[in-house]
Parts: sequence; C-alpha cells; structure tokens
Amino acid sequence: MSQATRALARPETRPGSVLVAGSSGKGTTCRILAEVLYAAGLHPVLTAHGARSWPDGWTRDGAPRKSIRLVEVDAAPLVRRIPPPAAIVCTNILRGRPDDDTAGAALTAQLERAIRSLPASTTLILNADDPRVASLAASRPNPRLYFGMSDPVHGRVRKEPAAEIPCCPGCGERLSYARVYYAHLGHWACGACGLGRPDPTVNVTKIGLVGSSSSRLHLGATSASAALKVPLPGIYNAYNALAAVTVATYLGLPAWSLRAVENASGGPMRMERTRVAERDVYLAVAENATGYTEVLRAILGDGEPRRMLLGLSAPQRPLQDISWIWDVDFESLAGLVPTPVLCGNRAADLGVRLEYAGWLGTRRAQGHPAGASIEPDPIRAVRAAILGTPPGQSLWIVSTATALAVIRSWLRRHHHVPHSVAERAERADWADRADCAEPTERAEHRRQRRAYRQPSGRPQPERAGAAG
Ligand SMILES: [Zn+2]
Repeated sequence: MSQATRALARPETRPGSVLVAGSSGKGTTCRILAEVLYAAGLHPVLTAHGARSWPDGWTRDGAPRKSIRLVEVDAAPLVRRIPPPAAIVCTNILRGRPDDDTAGAALTAQLERAIRSLPASTTLILNADDPRVASLAASRPNPRLYFGMSDPVHGRVRKEPAAEIPCCPGCGERLSYARVYYAHLGHWACGACGLGRPDPTVNVTKIGLVGSSSSRLHLGATSASAALKVPLPGIYNAYNALAAVTVATYLGLPAWSLRAVENASGGPMRMERTRVAERDVYLAVAENATGYTEVLRAILGDGEPRRMLLGLSAPQRPLQDISWIWDVDFESLAGLVPTPVLCGNRAADLGVRLEYAGWLGTRRAQGHPAGASIEPDPIRAVRAAILGTPPGQSLWIVSTATALAVIRSWLRRHHHVPHSVAERAERADWADRADCAEPTERAEHRRQRRAYRQPSGRPQPERAGAAG
C-alpha cells in the first residue's frame, strides 16, 4: 500500500475522506470507486448529497477500521464544514445551456474558493479534458493528478471554436479543440496565451463502447496499464470510471482490485436495470441538454433501433423553461426509435421537438405528431411502453426526474425495483450491505469477494468489521 493509503487506513487518525465534486457523474464515480476500495480490502463509506446526510454519516459510531469516506459534494461551500479531505476529485463543470453559462461559472467560482480553503496537502484529482477543472486553483501548491481520454478514434474532431465551448481560464479568449469527447470535454488549447490540456497521469488509450450497456476501457498510466470492463454505457460513464481509477491509483491500490469496476452499478435511475414481464427495462434520468444527449448517445450510439419511453416534466406554476430540449442532439439519432412513447406534463412539447428532429415523420393526426404515442401520465405511459415492447426485448426509459420517479415508484410497488437493499445502498454504508441483503445477495457478496482473491494466494488485506 502507498503512503496515502496507509495514512487513510490508520485507525487512530479517524477515517480519511475523498470528496467528489463537479456538475455530473459524482454519484456514479463514488459507486465505482467504492467497488474498487471494497475489493482491495478497505471499507468505503459513501455519503451522498452533502449537507442533508452528512451529519448522520459523520457522527455514526462503530465505523470499522480502514474506512475511507467518499463524499459526494453537491455544493462546494460544504467543503468548509467537513474535516479536510485527503483528496478532492472534480469530474467536470458543465454549462446549463450552450448559450448561458451562469451555472458553470458559478460552480467554477465555488470550487475555486473551496479548493483554496483546503490545506496544501490535499491532493487535487482533476479532469484534464475539462479546461475549467484542469485550471482550478492553478497557483496553489497542492499535489495534482490528472485524468483524461486519449482515444484517437472516439470523439469528434472540431477545430473551430463553438458557442458551447468555455473561454480560456487563463486569458478569456475562445479555446480551440483538436478533439471533443462530449460537451466541451476534450483536447483543448488556447491559441492566445498558450494554456493547454495537461498531460493526464491516468488516461484511457482506447474506448470500446459495447452496445448500449457497457464499455471496455484500455487504460494507460505512468505506473500500470490495464483493460477494464465498465458495466455502464456511454462516454460519460467512461469518464466516471476513469476518475475512480485515478483515485485508486493515487491510493496505491493493487492493480487487480481495479477489476472490481466490473461490479459497479449506476444507482437508482442511472441506467438502472430491472426486469418486467420478460422485458429488461432500463431507467435513465436526464435533466438537461447535455445529459439527455449523452444518455441517448449511450443507448443509440451503436446505430441499432431500440424501444424507448421518453419523459419530460416541468412545473407549470411557476412555468419552468424547457427550451433546453431544443439543444438536445436528437437529430443525429433520428430513425432509431420506432414509435417512441412520450410522457410527462410537457410530453406534447417533446413531441414537437422530436418531429422537428425527424424522429416522427411528417404526418399529423389529431393534432399530435405522427409516429409517437403521447401519454402524459407516466404510469399509463410505462404500461403502454412495456406492452409495446415484445417479450425478450428491452425498453429504455429516459426522462427528467419527476416523471421518472413516478415510474420508479410504480415499478417498486410492483416489486420490480428492490426496496431496501438499493435504497440503503444509496445511503451506502457499505458495511450495511451485508446486513440488509437477502440471503442470495449475501452469497453473491461472498462470491464476489472470493473472486477478487488472487489465485496466486496473495494475502488479502484485513477487513475489520466486515460482515458477510
Ligand atoms: Zn488563453
């Protein structure tokens, strides 16, 4: 184990912690990292969503030795209220909308302030492909590790600056990109001041996107290289896995423990899979243009047609702006979804958007776009979508959170989505997993832990306090 791991693991120093911040991917990064830590014999304790659950998580007694707290921080100012972390990970800083960067600028400023308030010993683990993340607290002496994509095949080549690209963090001029993987994440440089993407310590040299459910990453690192299967689709999840692997590298975890990435799940409504009447049903939440675009690309990127239920819900009083749906890249995926079902109180708006994107043909019937089935009620819509999906095939449900939560509750009431295990795992004291799990799940945990053991008989790290 590295010095960092030993320091985190020392029982008398209280648990170490790793904060995970950024616009998106925090929860999934924590979950992937927790699997790796667990496989390596450590005790990951996840605390999600910052302020609301932090006091519970922190004051709970009886935390086993060798625990590492993974704290998903929604609001950067929270950093000031918790003990200084060993490391802070920044996944990305996305724009709310291509033509409005208020949210991105605010988060950048919050993170900058938060990191400056941390001790100089806290390691910064930063996404090299995001210019604002890579440039956070640039003048501070903290140790830094960068992660990034280096796959020369994936990603779009875009030499010209575009509106959704942030300005140079150094001089404010427009950045240029040799390659964009998603949103504004890619190989960036500033022609005016010479600032550019730092060389990543850990990078993905090749991404194999396998269908709509997983990907294979070939990693290159200064110390090791490996190929990992990530059981979550899309480039954005490849970034989440890469962030987790970079933390594992910082902690000096053994290379074999990285295989546990294969065991990760995205969590509720994060490409969550369930089985209903002989159909696989996937739930994916998408709350903004970038999220919607990337989830759709992850599902439809291989060009295979798929059954889908799309949802759009937004408060009517006060009226919430949903014009961001015009920024979703539906156009490049037209023709891949036969007769989508649309739900949510703004389903009709979504129908108009899809019609313009060429998803629905040009015919109109009864004022509704042709080729779509519009059912604002999410439960009636999911019933119709399941019935419209032949047994043995899969249904993908992509929606904003309100409508999707209604669908998930309905599935849970009908026992298609697990009650206690998933939700306690969401609060995720991982020691609880064995306590709350069903017997079959306990057996699965034991099987997984055996599977991580080295065939060569490498002694396993002690796991104090772990049940199961
Ligand atoms: Zn510049």
